Amino acid sequence: MTIREDILKDVKRVVIKVGSSVISNRQKGRSSLECGLSRDWVWHYAREIKNIRDRGYDVVLVSSGAIMAGRERLQFSQINLTIPEKQACAAIGQSFLMRAYEKAFEKKGLMVAQILLSHDDLGNRRRYLNARHTIEALLEKGVVPIINENDSVTVEEIKIGDNDSLSATVACLMDAQLLIILSDVDGLYDRDPSRKNKTETKKVQLISHVSKVDEDIERIAGKSKNRLTVGGMVTKVWAAKKTMSFGIPTLVVNGLDEKVIENIFAGKEVGTLFWSGKEKIRDRKHWITHTLKPAGTLTIDEGARKALVEKGKSLLPAGLIKVKGNFEFGNALTLLDESGKEVGRGLVNYNSRDLERIKGMRTPAVRSLMQESFYEEVIHRDDLVVF
Ligand code: GLU
Repeated sequence: MTIREDILKDVKRVVIKVGSSVISNRQKGRSSLECGLSRDWVWHYAREIKNIRDRGYDVVLVSSGAIMAGRERLQFSQINLTIPEKQACAAIGQSFLMRAYEKAFEKKGLMVAQILLSHDDLGNRRRYLNARHTIEALLEKGVVPIINENDSVTVEEIKIGDNDSLSATVACLMDAQLLIILSDVDGLYDRDPSRKNKTETKKVQLISHVSKVDEDIERIAGKSKNRLTVGGMVTKVWAAKKTMSFGIPTLVVNGLDEKVIENIFAGKEVGTLFWSGKEKIRDRKHWITHTLKPAGTLTIDEGARKALVEKGKSLLPAGLIKVKGNFEFGNALTLLDESGKEVGRGLVNYNSRDLERIKGMRTPAVRSLMQESFYEEVIHRDDLVVF
């Protein structure tokens, strides 16, 4: 079995990032930003995503293209725009972009939803979890979430900056098992193909697998300046560095190859794979355990302890005996068993006031009491580390 086939075995949820250059009306000699949105390519990706959805995968799409589409509509001809001009383009282009996706997916019988994020949303635990719950609810309903940065209102300090980085964050947020970055180049080359010196005899080689993003890799990536995209290759490599530390494999492939998604899911060797092996898979849990400071404690009964420790279940209100501390939604908490022994840590879906009200209650009663603030789990097992 090849590494890629091995990775595919574990994939249930995939984040696909579509760059502006792969959904633009490309014209020779012009930057994609000047070319406007290509409905054909939007339709093409809707088809591809429908195909992989039919094979049972959850798909979250991160799509650029708002500024490009808005530029076309506002008929800006100059390449360099001021920030307010770019934001105006994003405001116009985002709805235009979504309309194109909506039409294309509708034809395939799929509904789409727009989610616009900024760094502020993802840096704050509460909003981070909110975003996650929303996307999770959409996936459960069979909807394709389409995410972009909230460019039109985002100022520099809270900008994520580029959609490569956004896609990596979304892959970690949603616990995806694969991130695919669709670019207009085949992957990472050992030297910049566009700068190939005529006298050089050694052929430029595509790197098929990067197992560690070190200075050498960053240097190679930093050299390839792709004018058409916001970040070029270096932001893809940085994105991959992040996903790798969370144990998520990342593929950087050429989205202009119409067969590329099909080939990926057939286990074929396309693009550059960034993957350092499964052992990092627990990093998120590592972060919950070691980085976050617990803001309170929950004492759970024996039934809940067994469900958590022996059956890998989530913590429900019914198993709660005691709530200690003054904490908010999204905080890290310590879990104690009835004898006061620490059994785990996790991120909580309720604040301490609400937990005080619902502790020991069964799910239907909690649902009717909490109404729109209802979550089935006090701590979801994905946000839980059991010792
Ligand atoms: N959010 C930007 C847009 O939709 C693109 C940023 C990027 O491609 O990195 O136009």
